[in-house]
Amino acid sequence: MAKHDLILIALNPSPILDLMERALSAAGFQVAVAHDRLSLDKSIQEAVPSLLVIAETFGGQDGFAVSAEILERFPTLPIILYVDKDTTGLAKSALKTGLSGYLFPPLKIPDIVEEVQRSLARARKLGDWLRHEVKRTTSSLVQKADFSEAERQKLEAIISNIQDGVIVVDKNRNIILVNRAVCDIFDLKSVNLIGRPLAEAIANEDLKALLVRASEGPLKYHEINFDDGRVFNAQYAPIPQVGFAVTMQDISYLKELDRLKSDFIHTISHDLRSPLTSILGYTELVERTGPLTPNQQEFLRRLQGSVQHITTMVNDLLDLGRLDAGFDTRREAVHLENVLKYSLDIFENQAKKKEIKLSVDVSPDLTPLRANPIRIRQMLDNLIGNAIKYTPQNGSVHVSMSMQGDQIVIKVQDSGVGIPTEEQGRIFEKFYRATNAASGIVGSGLGLAIVKSIVESHQGRVWVESTMEKGSTFIVLLPAQN
Ligand code: ADP
Repeated sequence: MAKHDLILIALNPSPILDLMERALSAAGFQVAVAHDRLSLDKSIQEAVPSLLVIAETFGGQDGFAVSAEILERFPTLPIILYVDKDTTGLAKSALKTGLSGYLFPPLKIPDIVEEVQRSLARARKLGDWLRHEVKRTTSSLVQKADFSEAERQKLEAIISNIQDGVIVVDKNRNIILVNRAVCDIFDLKSVNLIGRPLAEAIANEDLKALLVRASEGPLKYHEINFDDGRVFNAQYAPIPQVGFAVTMQDISYLKELDRLKSDFIHTISHDLRSPLTSILGYTELVERTGPLTPNQQEFLRRLQGSVQHITTMVNDLLDLGRLDAGFDTRREAVHLENVLKYSLDIFENQAKKKEIKLSVDVSPDLTPLRANPIRIRQMLDNLIGNAIKYTPQNGSVHVSMSMQGDQIVIKVQDSGVGIPTEEQGRIFEKFYRATNAASGIVGSGLGLAIVKSIVESHQGRVWVESTMEKGSTFIVLLPAQN
């Protein structure tokens, strides 16, 4: 027992009060007495007693109610209630209120001291436990904070030293992290970007386009071009509970390589055209030089087929070269339903041969498109041609055209072989043929590259949704006014 423990007694003047005072003083406690509510509150507040003994009725007030109020403010203060008469009801109420103990007559000195010591010991244990818990929790919090601070610094060091640009923004699109590379890329060295809205802090049209594109559709990347020739591939990655991140890789050298490759292909294609035309011309002349045996005729037919195939490929390559170089600027009002009709005319026979059901659904509110009609026809031919080519006997191909706000949506859906998920991202590349085309389906791998170039030269987007063995849907979005 701590000798200086102060016991506050809140009892009306009575022999019991005297007895308690004497008993507790004799046991070595300091004793203070409160005679009314005001002095009780003042003593608790200022003298900070170790324990309170309160009468069932004190200063005209209910001792339970007063105890409950005091415990609200000082939950660890042990309180002993003195009652004039012991009843089970009282004991229950004392427990419910959260009192430490209670005393009742006949009172003997040892009863009083024992009850006070017991309550104090319990309160002390509770206090020790609380202190221990607070210490434990605090030290684990400090540890965690140290750990996360160290982690944060490590992460910051990694992010600031990587070559790729990294921007992280919160849900309100305010920048919360940028690395050095971003400042170098946008030449923003001396500007403080943290906390500023991304669109305002880095005013770049391609970056803005990426944000619009990523929040509206499934495409999460975009090229960022600079006037000095640098090209970056920017990717958008949502971060749950934070916002999103944009990472940027320098692909200028890849673009340069691509340009050199395209130039090379363009030159070769161009140079191949004349010899191919003359081969085809001579094969036609051979037939006129005299009667041919059936074998010779068959060989000649195959020769012409192959030359035709190479000529188509060369023409496709030249087309791609023109599209990529941005030479395709012809624009006029194009009624898509008419172009579609012409396109379907040439595929009707192929579909019939494979007993493929070819259906069309053109929305009546379709607005005319400002486009190059020849290119749009070429795009439809490639998509519908592929749909028929990659759909087995008795399948179906459905073409639909509709409006979605100010966008025209063209869908070419087939019930064909489907495209493996891991290859879907590559089929729009030049010369890429997916593994589903391995089983003898003829092609050059250029059709979809042309489709993509045409769509992009009309400020549109194209992508595929496909399930193996179920079929594929190619979706083209074109802005109605462009
Ligand atoms: P190809 O001349 O090989 O058809 P494309 O560029 O038109 O070349 O298509 C590229 C590849 O995409 C094809 O080789 C094929 O693997 C796949 N592909 C295109 N269209 C479809 C389709 N409708 N169904 C399944 N696979 C397709």
